[in-house]
Amino acid sequence: MKGGHKFIHECSEACSHKMESLQQISKPFRKTEISSFVSRYIELDHHADDFVLSAMHDLFSGIQYFVKYAKKNSTCTTLYCPITKSSHISFIGYCPHCSSLESHDVWLPNKNERNAIKKNKPQSDEIGTICSEISLELLMLILKEEIEMFNITDRVHDVDAIIKYNHMISLWEIKSSPMFLPSFEIDNLTESTKHIIGDANWSEGSMKMRVPGTKSTAEISFSHESSDLQLESFQLRCIKAMEKDNFQFAKDFVQQWIRNYSEFISGSHSNLKFLRAGGSAKTDDSKNQPGINRTDDLKKASYQLLKYTGHYKALCSKGNIYGGIITNLGPIASRDPYFKGIYDLKIVQGHENSYLCDAILSLDSPVAHLYNPDLRCIMDR
Ligand SMILES: [Zn+2]
Ligand SMILES: [Zn+2]
Repeated sequence: MKGGHKFIHECSEACSHKMESLQQISKPFRKTEISSFVSRYIELDHHADDFVLSAMHDLFSGIQYFVKYAKKNSTCTTLYCPITKSSHISFIGYCPHCSSLESHDVWLPNKNERNAIKKNKPQSDEIGTICSEISLELLMLILKEEIEMFNITDRVHDVDAIIKYNHMISLWEIKSSPMFLPSFEIDNLTESTKHIIGDANWSEGSMKMRVPGTKSTAEISFSHESSDLQLESFQLRCIKAMEKDNFQFAKDFVQQWIRNYSEFISGSHSNLKFLRAGGSAKTDDSKNQPGINRTDDLKKASYQLLKYTGHYKALCSKGNIYGGIITNLGPIASRDPYFKGIYDLKIVQGHENSYLCDAILSLDSPVAHLYNPDLRCIMDR
């Protein structure tokens, strides 16, 4: 075991042993160029500060969705748009150019068409990995520099990430999924006056990234590299493209993200809902809500928290083990009766008691769900 890769926890034998076994399946979390891009962006755009991390989570999730998909498939189901004369590779069922807030412009396909163009997402385990890693990286921007973060390498394990700070070890369940994703497009000079669903090969021609529902695009130099397309090099090219024009594309993305978010929390059913990655149903009746806003995830996460309490916290004679949820988008309380009265519960074992959930660390409201005040010390704000 390398130095700096340890979290020695001197405690009761059972607790030390448990932590040692966790250590064996963990590795230090490695940052990528995403966090430095986001730091540079934040310096420029203070205005969007509260939402910038959640928006950036979605922006980079979209980029990585595309690469995961492109690695496995040489063609992709696309939507040809007669206005842009390009084929759109999208994660929503609507034309990312023609669907806008102004209703007269919206192109609404029927249900069958919509199902046919919604197949570009990677598999759900890959989506889980993508969103978890991006969430951790962005979360580090709001945590103290001295914290140490670890990933669990064993995919079936019940802990997704570990944050260590002084004597505190916190165990985290990550529940991240995007709300609003960028789309990609390839020039296509088809002579059609209608929107057409068909296949496109992305190794030919240049490519653009688009903020859905707007005219904002960024040119990506993409040509003829799809066979050995690597995530990092593609991501770097996207970053370079986004840094042109004083980050204009990223600013447009964040702005549209915020508009979409406002509609999401208000429960409104305007046309913006068509641009959302997961539709627009209420918390209780959809499997596609962003962040920690779907019932399935709430139920799974609640059980994990119980397990952290029973299997980890209960063994710790020093009370130094904590547990919570990490997410890109926190619970939207007004729409979520599931949360009230549950997560600030205290569980009593013998004479000791502990919070069921010490915190929900969400990128949009990092200190809003700190149930256990002890954890405040890991935050950098
Ligand atoms: Zn269109
Ligand atoms: Zn302990």
